[in-house]
Amino acid sequence: MNKKTVLITGASRGIGRAIARLFAINNYNVVINYNKSEHEAKELYEELSEKGCSVRIFKADVSDISEANSLVNYCIGQFEKIDVLINNAGISKNNLFTDISYEEWHEVMNVNLNSVFYVTKKALQYMIPEMNGKIINISSIWGIAGGSYEVHYSASKAAIIGMTKALAKELGPSNINVNCIAPGVIKTDMLNNINEDTIDMLRDETPLMRLGTPEDIARCALFLASEGGDFITGQVISPNGGFVI
Ligand code: NAP
Repeated sequence: MNKKTVLITGASRGIGRAIARLFAINNYNVVINYNKSEHEAKELYEELSEKGCSVRIFKADVSDISEANSLVNYCIGQFEKIDVLINNAGISKNNLFTDISYEEWHEVMNVNLNSVFYVTKKALQYMIPEMNGKIINISSIWGIAGGSYEVHYSASKAAIIGMTKALAKELGPSNINVNCIAPGVIKTDMLNNINEDTIDMLRDETPLMRLGTPEDIARCALFLASEGGDFITGQVISPNGGFVI
């Protein structure tokens, strides 16, 4: 059987990096997108290539329409198809709502939400004619529950949930599944601007008594992409240790 191809945005670090690793060792062709972290992306490329995995890296700022289009075109040029698209790239900013500048609001919306529109719109040019595909959007528990000091982040992640549900209805007849993973608190660089006391408090409030790992999210993505996810669409799955129930 032909290998499946996955395109992962923001896969140089954190959750995207773990997803890239897991899909690569599970025999997918993997396109690893990065923007600023070239060193990390190259390191991951070398690690996976040495294991005999089929991987490529491509620099693109997915909040830019033409770079998002180039990323999808690169994937098609390398592997001729996209079976699984994982919209993972994201940034977080912590600020009191009244202190959020217009620039910061738009930056968060452009990277977290508009990028999903740009990459998905382009990828669907190739996925719809194939009548096959899986799209997995990475949202957040804050998109479900709302996070104070993160109104822009929460709004962008809630919008991804709405987009996932609407697109699942539209694309179901094309045999394309669209789902959302809404992670809880996951140990990545994204937590670097949160102080230790707050992290301890978040851990204590989690019924499973630990923070999540990028691998926790990667395993969920691999399941959704697998045959196990074939009858799942329009859903929000939240690996969060019970933090939001
Ligand atoms: P991270 O460790 O900070 O990694 C973020 C990734 O996104 C990096 O690979 C970064 O690439 C990429 N990225 C950022 N802006 C980009 C852009 N304009 N174009 C292309 N790539 C871009 O964060 P993470 O925790 O892994 O987060 C991954 C996703 O999970 C995000 O959507 C985040 O909102 C979501 N999430 C995280 C948590 C958590 O607790 N960590 C919880 C819920 C949801 P470069 O470094 O190469 O620029």
